[in-house]
Amino acid sequence: MEKVTKIVLIGTGFVGSSYAFAVVNQGLANELVLIDINKKKAEGDAMDLNHALPFGSPMRIWAGDYSDCKDADLVVITAGANQQPGETRLDLVDKNAKIFKSIVSEVMKSGFVGLFLVATNPVDILSYATWKYSGLPAHRVIGSGTILDTARLRYLLSKAYKVNPQNVHAYIIGEHGDSELPVWSHATLGVRPISDYLKEGKGPTQDELDQIFINVRDAAYHIIDRKGATYYGIAMAMARLTRAILNDENSVLTVSTLLNGEYGLKDIYIGVPAIVNRSGIREVVELNLNEQELEKLHHSAEVLTQIMKKVF
Ligand code: NAD
Repeated sequence: MEKVTKIVLIGTGFVGSSYAFAVVNQGLANELVLIDINKKKAEGDAMDLNHALPFGSPMRIWAGDYSDCKDADLVVITAGANQQPGETRLDLVDKNAKIFKSIVSEVMKSGFVGLFLVATNPVDILSYATWKYSGLPAHRVIGSGTILDTARLRYLLSKAYKVNPQNVHAYIIGEHGDSELPVWSHATLGVRPISDYLKEGKGPTQDELDQIFINVRDAAYHIIDRKGATYYGIAMAMARLTRAILNDENSVLTVSTLLNGEYGLKDIYIGVPAIVNRSGIREVVELNLNEQELEKLHHSAEVLTQIMKKVF
């Protein structure tokens, strides 16, 4: 019999239910279990998603409980408070760290031996918390990090240069939040550096690129002001990560992972490009950042460290 791939999703709010829809739509697993403290919401989503199955790939979907994590390949956590208008992601830390302590201990009690994928904010700190609370090796605990910010950057650059976003290679690294930074020194269209276009005066000016970055950094605020929450972008980003993991892709994606000396940083989860496969994080792809970028990354790490001191 073919091996069953099983995802347990914890938190079926805006982000979780959008992710579940992406999983069903893309046929990413054989089994999808939904858990939420609001059991009725998880049940309703399971019913609704099951009604989509005649139009997609075969899958078993149900509202379950923590015992379902025992043989799960992936536990995805999108549970917890989201940003209210005017709130930063870091403002959520106290509420969500408490929620994570109980969720992660329930998952581990089941005998879970798979991988964690975390999206709840502040995602870098909660990924670190998941690693600490679970006792799992760090390569098996992955945060969504700056994968969405990177997607936002690639989208806006694709519009500015009129190039398919899939051919825009540019990363946002650092905290998934206000202290993140763009790595302009390694941004390319195809394999051609953006700096070459700047020198030739083609495409956006440096000021326009700076404005693009500001729009990326502040995108969540702009969306939350308009519709209260952001979820489709992160849901697709999490689905992309799920595919990279379950298909053992060895794909380079910007995720939150534990640094162990890379970029001169240690004992911190932060968004950086890394190779993702079936065992989780295979390795961090360390970029040769310029001095200013390295300084900004260290500043971002410091912002996270100061908040972490309050939690751990
Ligand atoms: P939401 O309020 O719609 O959903 C949260 C869900 O978590 C609710 O259904 C709630 O019942 C559930 N929940 C709360 N405590 C729980 C517990 N102890 N056990 C199980 N379920 C519990 O919020 P949302 O808009 O879906 O956002 C979820 C999280 O995702 C937020 O922290 C938000 O900031 C984050 N987010 C992250 C990114 C990213 O790029 N990483 C992007 C968007 C949102």
